[in-house]
Amino acid sequence: MAKQTNLHCSFCGRSRDEVKILIAGQEGHICENCVEHAQEIISQELSIKQESNNGSSSGFKLNVRKPAEIKKFLDEYIIGQDEAKKILSVAVYNHFKRVTNKQQPDEVEIEKSNIIMVGETGTGKTLLAKTIARLLNVPFAIVDATVFTEAGYVGEDVESMLTRLLQNCNYDVAAAERGIVYVDEIDKIARKGDNPSITRDVSGEGVQQGLLKMLEGTEVLVPPQGGRKHPEQKMIKVDTRNILFICGGAFDGIDKVIARRVNTNAIGFSVNKEEQDMQRKNLLHFINAQDLKSFGLIPELLGRLPVVTHLNPLDEATLKSILTEPKNSLIKQYTRLFELEGIELEVDEEVLNFMVTKAMEYKLGARGLRSICESILTDAMFELPGTDTKKLHITADYAAQMFGKSKLSVLKVA
Ligand code: ADP
Repeated sequence: MAKQTNLHCSFCGRSRDEVKILIAGQEGHICENCVEHAQEIISQELSIKQESNNGSSSGFKLNVRKPAEIKKFLDEYIIGQDEAKKILSVAVYNHFKRVTNKQQPDEVEIEKSNIIMVGETGTGKTLLAKTIARLLNVPFAIVDATVFTEAGYVGEDVESMLTRLLQNCNYDVAAAERGIVYVDEIDKIARKGDNPSITRDVSGEGVQQGLLKMLEGTEVLVPPQGGRKHPEQKMIKVDTRNILFICGGAFDGIDKVIARRVNTNAIGFSVNKEEQDMQRKNLLHFINAQDLKSFGLIPELLGRLPVVTHLNPLDEATLKSILTEPKNSLIKQYTRLFELEGIELEVDEEVLNFMVTKAMEYKLGARGLRSICESILTDAMFELPGTDTKKLHITADYAAQMFGKSKLSVLKVA
């Protein structure tokens, strides 16, 4: 009898009544937790082995999906932006088809489909790139084009963007070589003015030139710790042929460039203000490489970014959906946070409308929704843990009162 009650898992030491199942072996026992854990270790080890046979060692197992599957996955996390999602899904699929297809010498060469996304800040460009990398299980790095300068000037060499990628996959070069780099603020390295020869344009055209080879595909010597290269430093060689570059930028004012090209000067004669706005917004639909060139990107760079797409500005309905619909939407996150405290959170529909109105009023966009939520819920998150409260009901009045007390409300509406 005593022997029976002393039974325990030989791996974690938990006793019989601390676990659900205890499986007996010849000389010991194992509980369901340790079986699960062992299973995880086995699958991890096996996938690493499989990967290392393919030349990769950090467990990044390429997970190629069909375009429709990629789009469906994106739909779970990103609201709207259907056109961008579709174009991106196809471009990414083709890219990885190219990567996984061992090209024969006499076969048609499929070129890289690097992508450029144009859309106001906060419309989901980074989120799109990040979500794709997550789905495909490839290393991903976000870099800001504005930190780079032409070689020899103060700032970072363009090669250091690959440092970021290497760091994110624990210096597994094989995995990094088919990763995704998201280059943000690409519009900020546009050539300024029409005559680049008068003054040296350190941050603009020089950087674009520096990017050319890397985007196309070449072997780059990467400083493992980033920053400037110096002669004594040991470099890591990275082949960028199969790295997908996705560039994004707001390209403020590009609508005027598009309007000029498509010659829509007629806008506004007969239609009302609302319709004019709609037409202006829709101009982005017509964006092409020619407009980006007029904006100041050099043709050689554009040649290496063959896929151009755009993101729509977020309207009130989209902002409201962003609050509740994505798989990890803000409201779902806060609900979970309170649930972990044993508190049921109920948010009235009018509160959502209030948040959206404030985000629009203060021009905070989707990024601002989080700070608005914080401003409304912080007091409750501070006071309720440890109390007997089982339910928190947020009404429009409560939301307005909390928001009124916050720093956000002090901001001047532009
Ligand atoms: P961008 O790169 O275009 O400046 P981000 O992708 O960084 O914008 O978006 C900022 C945040 O706003 C995201 O983390 C996300 O929470 C939210 N967001 C923006 N657009 C969307 C969208 N279409 N669907 C869901 N969330 C979005």
